Amino acid sequence: MAQIEVIQGDITVLQLDAIVNAANSSLMGGGGVDGAIHRAAGPALLEECRKIAAARRGVPGGPCPAGDAVITGAGNLPCRYVIHTVGPVWHGGGSGESELLASCYKKSLLLAEEAALKSVAFPNISTGVYGYPRDKAAAVAIAAVRETLQGTRGIGRVLFVCFDRENYRLYRKLLG
Ligand code: ADP
Repeated sequence: MAQIEVIQGDITVLQLDAIVNAANSSLMGGGGVDGAIHRAAGPALLEECRKIAAARRGVPGGPCPAGDAVITGAGNLPCRYVIHTVGPVWHGGGSGESELLASCYKKSLLLAEEAALKSVAFPNISTGVYGYPRDKAAAVAIAAVRETLQGTRGIGRVLFVCFDRENYRLYRKLLG
């Protein structure tokens, strides 16, 4: 089974096979980690996202609905690929948020496996402007990653990249 690690820092500087972006359903960039990734990657990334969005025009919920994921190149980033996934907006927990969040982690890892990637880094999806409580999100993220890794063969390393200290502490505690 793949190794699961947690670090605190900026996901855009990592030299891994793929980093995951907490995108929005338009795939056209935004704030938070999405903004940081697009700033560091440069215009080539936005151009790739624009093409995917155009090809997926008319999909209910936008080009990349919550819980779904797509993969692109990485522009000027030091990683090789960016996997864009869209977390759920927190509406209190009764609107399928945990299933959608688990799906983000699962689909991202399945895309990585399909592309024969070995190392993948995740930000703490939905815990910024989308308002998902950090503790609940961390539990969902870890469970979804562990479960998905039982069915993958090529992925050797998964990193949870925490930007803030609170998330870092939570992941450290939950991962033991
Ligand atoms: P969402 O809309 O999914 O909530 P945000 O980008 O607002 O997405 O936040 C998701 C998480 O990404 C938050 O925990 C935020 O602190 C974190 N974050 C912001 N910038 C970076 C970065 N450069 N590297 C890693 N994580 C980041």
